[in-house]
Amino acid sequence: MAWYPGATRYELQPESDAQPAIDPTQFIVHSIIAPWTAKRVYEYWRDSTNLESHFGLGYEGDLGQFIGTETRADANAAANRRPDGTGAVSIETASNLQGTDPWTSAQVEKLIQLGVWLHQTHGIPLRICRTHDDPGFGYHRLHSQWAVSGTACPGDARVKQFKEVVFPGIVARATGKTTTPTEEDDMEPVDIWGYRGKLGTKPDPRDAYAYLRDTETRARRIEERLAKAEQLALTDAQVASLADKVADNPTLANRIAELVADKLAARLAD
Ligand SMILES: [Zn+2]
Repeated sequence: MAWYPGATRYELQPESDAQPAIDPTQFIVHSIIAPWTAKRVYEYWRDSTNLESHFGLGYEGDLGQFIGTETRADANAAANRRPDGTGAVSIETASNLQGTDPWTSAQVEKLIQLGVWLHQTHGIPLRICRTHDDPGFGYHRLHSQWAVSGTACPGDARVKQFKEVVFPGIVARATGKTTTPTEEDDMEPVDIWGYRGKLGTKPDPRDAYAYLRDTETRARRIEERLAKAEQLALTDAQVASLADKVADNPTLANRIAELVADKLAARLAD
């Protein structure tokens, strides 16, 4: 019995106690074809059917858990519990009545967080299930064995999100390659070319022209100093220190490389 600390617990009985244990090796995502909150999904499982998923996720990112992740839930046909005792953890997510809309950003974020927890808690490997019983992550229509009579679930838009955003997000966060989203991600894009001439002479990171002019000036200055370094016979340490400063500024380094390449080409042409 494992309960995700990030979900509201709406325990379904008698299923939670009565259904057999599983060793969770897969995570399968669904669309429920209704714009429901997590609580409403729970009420549906409780009152209207003997099927159920482990989790329910509303549009606002409200996440509910109905059954522990080491107990069978009945949302993915043969994947619910296989003869070897392994099975899939399932989530139903709020969608429009056609099952055609994409997940909201709040839903995407919760799917990623839950995916990371499942990886860390149950060792579900960070790959998309290659076969119906291969441990990993998937969406309902990925393997025909996961549906009784075929399904489009969770819909084209969400299959695309799963492949491009949700699953890569789980991998990135589980392996520490990204941090959680920051406020910067919500910033309006800035039209850097639109600031031409408006910000005076001091380079402003939003003013691409001023930035380029400034970079050019500094590149020429360093080039002159490099030329003088030859004449003045600078020590190796001094040249290395200058090289370090240039290497710390890739834009400047590229510009110097271009200027040096141009000079060499001009000499060869002479
Ligand atoms: Zn489904």
